[in-house]
Amino acid sequence: MTHPGAPREPEGMAPGTGGCADTPILRERGQREVFCGLTGIIWLHRKIQDAFFLVVGSRTCAHLLQSAAGVMIFAEPRFATAIIEERDLAGLADANEELDRVVTRLIQRRPDIRMLFLVGSCPSEVIKLDLSRAAQRLSQRFSPSVRVLNYSGSGIETTFTEGEDACLAALVPEMPAEPGTARSLLVVGALAEVVEDQFIRLFAALGVGPVRFLPSRRASELPAVGEGTRFLLAQPFLAGTARALEARGARHIPAPFPLGEEGTTAWLRAAAEVWGVGEERFAQATAQGRERARAALANHRATLDGKSIFFFPDSQLEVPLARFLSRELGIKPIEIGTPYLHRQHLAHELALLPAAAKLVEGQHVDKQLDRCREARPDMTVCGLGLANPLEAEGLTTKWSIELVFSPIQGYDQAGDLAGLFARPLVRREKLMV
Ligand code: SF4
Repeated sequence: MTHPGAPREPEGMAPGTGGCADTPILRERGQREVFCGLTGIIWLHRKIQDAFFLVVGSRTCAHLLQSAAGVMIFAEPRFATAIIEERDLAGLADANEELDRVVTRLIQRRPDIRMLFLVGSCPSEVIKLDLSRAAQRLSQRFSPSVRVLNYSGSGIETTFTEGEDACLAALVPEMPAEPGTARSLLVVGALAEVVEDQFIRLFAALGVGPVRFLPSRRASELPAVGEGTRFLLAQPFLAGTARALEARGARHIPAPFPLGEEGTTAWLRAAAEVWGVGEERFAQATAQGRERARAALANHRATLDGKSIFFFPDSQLEVPLARFLSRELGIKPIEIGTPYLHRQHLAHELALLPAAAKLVEGQHVDKQLDRCREARPDMTVCGLGLANPLEAEGLTTKWSIELVFSPIQGYDQAGDLAGLFARPLVRREKLMV
């Protein structure tokens, strides 16, 4: 299920930055084919283990969550939808009372919940509700055992990874203040636990720390933040969270994203430089991981080298992925579409992209489809709604959402990440034999 919306930027050409500085960025606006921010709940509820996500939405929102999270409905779920229907419009007071009733019942039934997110959506009857006031009211009622926060997962002018940004930005004011100016590293962005554990070991070997993560595994144990906090972004779609952290005194460490051997090394190096780690120690701490990553990537190079790729704008991971695929596997990006291009956070990535790649910010799906059909790339990365029609036309596709659900960051995931792109090509080759 996809819900079209419209991007915020005007259409036209804008100068690029960094290594692609001479490459103009095409800005497009028009119909889009993307999932909405509610999708983030699927990975966030697994990550923050004592939180519950209550979507305040329509039956459409409930269906989206159920179909996206299919397998989870058999487990004790940590997300649900409070359905606000037209009949509630008779009075907003009724809708607020109904919401309070649902939340009270939920908290009574589930004493394990420490944090409850009221997640807004885009139906007009929901937009009329003031969810931030509802969250304040309910927080007062249930504090200190449960904190109630709110954010929007609305599909209007957003793409699906923005749900995580909105959720993490809502957490920032709840983080305790770090007293003093002692330096600490905050890694920002939901990572699989296995990846988090690998990074903890690497930072320990580098002597960088203390290291904390946002989101934390438990909402009741949010990391502290203050003037001494330096943060690395683990995901490229966290502009709002970064702004909120900076407002609390934290400082961003600019770096490429930890995808592939090169990206992971540069990401670790950026933090190591802030901590003044010497070159010898850095080389020692990273040598084995780099070697494992290189060996794993070599297994996929024969399949991927020289292949062309076309990215439709969807996950906001497109630019770092294109950099990784082009520099470490020899893939040629024809077009790199991304919903929003944060020039500052992506500056290191843009500098490493091949100059021939066309950069597109925003979406006009029909024009992009025309360009994709004309280019006939070996691989097309797109949302679920476009994948089936393109496959039917003989193009090989990769669902971008899979790249957000899978552990892909760090040295030990570099081979798996390459494998995600190699598999559809191998399958198609077999089908053609
Ligand atoms: S929030 Fe909007 S786009 Fe998302 S499922 Fe609900 S109605 Fe659809």
